Amino acid sequence: MEDSWGDSAESRATLLHLPAHVTTLLEAGVESRARGYRGRFAPSPTGALHRGNLRTALVGWLEARLRGGEWLLRIDDLDTPRNRSGAEEAVLADLLWLGLAWDGPPVRQSHRRGLYATVLSALRRGGVLYPCRCSRRMLADISAPHGPLSVYPGFCRHQPHRWGRQQGRLPSWRLGLPAGRIVWQERFSRPGGLDGPSEVGDTVLRRADGVIAYHLATAVDELAMGISDVLRGEDLWSSTGPQVAVMKVLGSTPPAYGHVPLWCDEAGQRLGKREGSEGLEGYRARGLDAPAVVGELAASLGLVPPGSRLSARELMQTLGPGDLKRCLRRRAPAGGESALNRLRSQLP
Ligand code: GLU
Repeated sequence: MEDSWGDSAESRATLLHLPAHVTTLLEAGVESRARGYRGRFAPSPTGALHRGNLRTALVGWLEARLRGGEWLLRIDDLDTPRNRSGAEEAVLADLLWLGLAWDGPPVRQSHRRGLYATVLSALRRGGVLYPCRCSRRMLADISAPHGPLSVYPGFCRHQPHRWGRQQGRLPSWRLGLPAGRIVWQERFSRPGGLDGPSEVGDTVLRRADGVIAYHLATAVDELAMGISDVLRGEDLWSSTGPQVAVMKVLGSTPPAYGHVPLWCDEAGQRLGKREGSEGLEGYRARGLDAPAVVGELAASLGLVPPGSRLSARELMQTLGPGDLKRCLRRRAPAGGESALNRLRSQLP
């Protein structure tokens, strides 16, 4: 039943006691979204933007401008060990060099840890999370003889809920998903939907090292920032299931999603690490200026002929309603998500 998950999750939301300031924030998000299109670009400051990121940013900016909306910038910098010094400055400079200016000040997830922690405690007190003691290594060992597990098998779900440290280690906290299909509105890629128990599983929302998981922070931010449309790379398609699940548990309506195709070579193969990781430095080393780079990024999607030179704003002016969607849909994958990809978002 398509709606069973949504219904049960929404009714459980009434059992959550979110503090008034969080409810106010979520309500403000609903109001912002109702005023019109609000997109966002959410890089992690782990290094320079590569070619695929640059193209996704260009698509997000174009879509927001074509729809007369706003394009916000959020820096996903919660996973501090992975952050690289100077990466955030480089990301902002690269976007501006390409002519992709964002609206308002950038939002930094590292400044919002209090908000995520408050939501996490409300979910915990509402009985929708459980502590998990399974380590990454243990799950990998279990899966070894049969190939990778596609989702977390729920080992700790029915164990007594002990919160504290055991053998010096804190538990991770997982969202216990009820049965049912998680669906979302997908604009560019294959239809948005995953079965909760067999394709998403009980997602980690706080890691054992205490870091708030990407899925929780992202779900809360899309709501609180009033994002109406999430445009991001196709590699995050499967992350939408857990994020929509969190939003439903919070009693909220998810935004629409548009997953932008990954950069592939002529034969349709995803680019290797070296080619794919080329950022603006690589383009500049080849002597390309901003209009040439915008032209190359746009030509790779079939939006303009190869060799075009134009600014982001000129590119926007060449596009008619629906051009972007048409080009992106033509390049969408046929379906089927690798088991490994899904498990990646389940590990503590
Ligand atoms: N910060 C994530 C990344 O750079 C993207 C998050 C998102 O767009 O949801 O891969």
